[in-house]
Amino acid sequence: MSTQKQIFIDPSQSKSNTAQQIKQSCGSPIEVSEAPLNKDFRSGKKTLAITPKKGQAFDTCATYSNEYVCCNVKVLKSIKNCPFDCSYCFLQDYLNNSTMQVVGDTDALIKEIQSACEQQPWRLFRIGTWELGDSLALEAETGQAKALIKAVAKMPQVFLELKTKSDQVDSILDLDHQERSVISWSMNPPRIIREQEHRTSDYESRLLAMKKAVDAGYLIGLHFDPMIYYDEWEQDYPELIANIFETIPSNRVAWISLGSLRFKPDMKQQIMANFPKQQITHAEMVTGNDGKMRYVKPLRLDMYEKVISAIKAACNTDTISPIQVPSPNTPLFYFCMERWDVWEHLLGESPRSVGHLDHLFAQHLQHRFPHLVNNVASIEQYETSQDTPIRT
Ligand code: SF4
Repeated sequence: MSTQKQIFIDPSQSKSNTAQQIKQSCGSPIEVSEAPLNKDFRSGKKTLAITPKKGQAFDTCATYSNEYVCCNVKVLKSIKNCPFDCSYCFLQDYLNNSTMQVVGDTDALIKEIQSACEQQPWRLFRIGTWELGDSLALEAETGQAKALIKAVAKMPQVFLELKTKSDQVDSILDLDHQERSVISWSMNPPRIIREQEHRTSDYESRLLAMKKAVDAGYLIGLHFDPMIYYDEWEQDYPELIANIFETIPSNRVAWISLGSLRFKPDMKQQIMANFPKQQITHAEMVTGNDGKMRYVKPLRLDMYEKVISAIKAACNTDTISPIQVPSPNTPLFYFCMERWDVWEHLLGESPRSVGHLDHLFAQHLQHRFPHLVNNVASIEQYETSQDTPIRT
């Protein structure tokens, strides 16, 4: 999405590959030793700063609560803020500085991944760059994803997840990725994209980009998250799922997640102020044990049930529980930050721990893509090393 932006670069990054890419795509950036401070979340989206890596970039996804099942994905904090403008985006209430920032020193990021692999040589890492932004929205300007894809192609312990609401795939199609990067889309029906996911790529462009990524040999991730309640949700979500699986084959989808709209109570006012025409704050919601508001449980169950039925029909399978042995056509299915009892109600079972779900990912990927996963360590090893307490 190359809208006009003011671009700054830390002098220490001026010889980086990112700087070369920026010069080619946008001209010479302005040198500054600190990313300009911007308190307004919208005007920050018009400014991009290329920064050095500060502190540790490799971490565990932060959204943990003992009441909810977490998948233990790792994150690489390589991007801050996003040129898109989704009404439900938590960043509008989160960032101290809204200037978009991208770490220019990809070698330093790659070293952190290598070091994590050396410390736990037995495990499979799923690593995403999407915690504080969109993995591909700024790719035309920065080339960061391209550098990471090339690096992880040589790391047999890693799956890099690049999650996006863009169609920015053309620059990564010819890379020798060795299937170690999973290109993921966060998907919603066209009406939600039009009304809530402002400035993102439209529905058809995302589907086309997905098809291009599959044709280029990438595995795909699908995230129906946040699912949003509105009058036509019951027909639109199953239609969305059918459309996707008419476009790409399920045997190239590594994983699918499902989650519903959620936000901290104090973000509600901010959403209403920033997006006066939105209606997402009008539905009945309750505050959960993790302090976030969600739709009431019967509604969440109803919404999930419809989507699960549509996924089963599209993948021609009777079960999508990740605990069952998968068929080659069945992507690993999981809920993002849902309660254990929601898992049990809808799938008849739940992982016994965060480490168990992490282990299931490794097992599942090995079963479906044996050329990509050599060994799978024991559940106990995954549980012992999980950053969060074992469920009691
Ligand atoms: S794409 Fe993600 S990070 Fe970007 S505005 Fe939307 S929700 Fe926020």
